[in-house]
Amino acid sequence: MGKITGFKEYKRENPEKRGVKERIKDYKEIYCKFPKDKLRIQAARCMNCGTPFCNWGCPIENIIPDWNDFIYKDEWKKAFERLCLTNNFPEFTGRICPAICEGACTLGVNREPVSIKEIELNIIEKAFEEGWITPNLPRVKTGKNIAVIGSGPSGLAAAAELNSVGHDVTVFERSDEIGGLLRYGIPDFKLEKHIVDRRINIMKIEGINFRTNINVGEEYSADKLIKNFDAVILTGGSTIPRDLKIQGRQLNGIHFAVDFLKQQNMRLAGKKIMEEEITAKGKIVVVIGGGDTGSDCIGTSIRQGAKAVYQYEVMPKQPLMRDDTMPWPTFPKILKVTTSHEEGCKREWCISTEKFAGEEGVVKTLHGVKVKWEKENGKMKMVNIPGTEFHQKVDLVLLAMGFIHPKHEGLLNDIGVEFDGRGNVKADKNYMTNKEGIFTAGDMRRGQSLVVWALKDGRRVAQKVDYYLMGETSLRG
Ligand SMILES: Cc1cc2nc3c(=O)[nH]c(=O)nc-3n(C[C@H](O)[C@H](O)[C@H](O)COP(=O)(O)OP(=O)(O)OC[C@H]3O[C@@H](n4cnc5c(N)ncnc54)[C@H](O)[C@@H]3O)c2cc1C
Ligand code: SF4
Repeated sequence: MGKITGFKEYKRENPEKRGVKERIKDYKEIYCKFPKDKLRIQAARCMNCGTPFCNWGCPIENIIPDWNDFIYKDEWKKAFERLCLTNNFPEFTGRICPAICEGACTLGVNREPVSIKEIELNIIEKAFEEGWITPNLPRVKTGKNIAVIGSGPSGLAAAAELNSVGHDVTVFERSDEIGGLLRYGIPDFKLEKHIVDRRINIMKIEGINFRTNINVGEEYSADKLIKNFDAVILTGGSTIPRDLKIQGRQLNGIHFAVDFLKQQNMRLAGKKIMEEEITAKGKIVVVIGGGDTGSDCIGTSIRQGAKAVYQYEVMPKQPLMRDDTMPWPTFPKILKVTTSHEEGCKREWCISTEKFAGEEGVVKTLHGVKVKWEKENGKMKMVNIPGTEFHQKVDLVLLAMGFIHPKHEGLLNDIGVEFDGRGNVKADKNYMTNKEGIFTAGDMRRGQSLVVWALKDGRRVAQKVDYYLMGETSLRG
């Protein structure tokens, strides 16, 4: 630990954000660079509490107190080496992870937690600046061939790990670009795409074979896959969005959030949009769903020039502080105000959308009602509050209610994998499906989740596959 009394002396500081008026004119990242000298002070706030709950809280078990110590001592390279032991892509988590670690930080019991995520981001960006990150080619080759289906964070982490121990890895991706939701889901104002490209370019030099525009199961059959590879890892994500099957759903102007967000990321990448264009320009937008995806729709709608943006959430508003249901060191499910919320939208909770009405086939009105949540036989039940019915003028409705499971038709059914009770691909403790040599990880296995959990799954499945093929493994998982 660098400074014994650091946590008493220094307050938490967060990176500055670009002003709202400026940032909504573009899609560039929102947070400004954190000055290096200030970062040292933030690292000095780490108490080295003895039982590092942050390390337990982080899904990939980042060894956080060690980097804090190195940063305080100005030993950036050592901090970088420690970070890379557990995290393949800190440049992604340092930007978009909800920082589960900070919820578990011991300092957070009665003060603000250490700025772990910001320190992580600065370590990796310094490593890129200094040229410490160079392609790491495997020294020996095993002669084993592995296919990874899907190039989101779980597939990429699995590919990086397996390539590092000498296997030949081919990543198949049905989109025209690598990255999964990092590429065509998460907006640029959270993660600029040159950050993704920077990592993919290194992985290419390291020898990973990326094959885009191949929908495995269609352009490349399941039989061929099984015949040509010693092991297959299914990391296709959770791709079926939750729908709102109510009256008027068929009207034009009602879309899934991910289709809207994908189009904007494509526009920014200079790609042609072949489907019907979805835009918020000049429109009254209602986003249904109060989570991260909904929030991304708000920021994107505002940048596109929406007239007004509303966000409706069916669940109650979260508390501002931890309560008895979320004691430290669990992740606090408190009210989140994202950068998109700051940019201007009206948020409402306990709203149920009952039906849509339109004119000439286009949505014009949303009919909603206020609800309350009551306990019935131990389960929470939603009840409409009489007299609270309302209608809202709307031109664009974005459904951001999450994803239910991966698509079963096509590849998954062709291979014959089994599904769990929620419709995700079922795997045993070794991440293997019911089919010998076919493994699964990420959102496809665990359901809709977070980038950091996808990384964890990708690292873990790589360890299991390596062991399966070689009878031993040096991968950490
Ligand atoms: C809008 C949005 C915002 C989000 N924001 C955040 C955030 O801020 N922070 C955070 O931690 N998490 C966020 N998430 C969640 C996070 O993006 C996912 O949990 C994570 O990307 C899952 O990784 P994955 O590798 O399992 O799958 P994905 O990223 O979904 O990648 C799966 C890939 O597999 C490909 N694929 C599927 N089937 C096939 C096939 N048959 N052949 C070839 N390719 C195939 C798909 O095209 C896709 O590219 C967000 C999600 C969304 C939708
Ligand atoms: S990956 Fe997420 S949870 Fe882990 S240390 Fe980084 S910010 Fe914290």
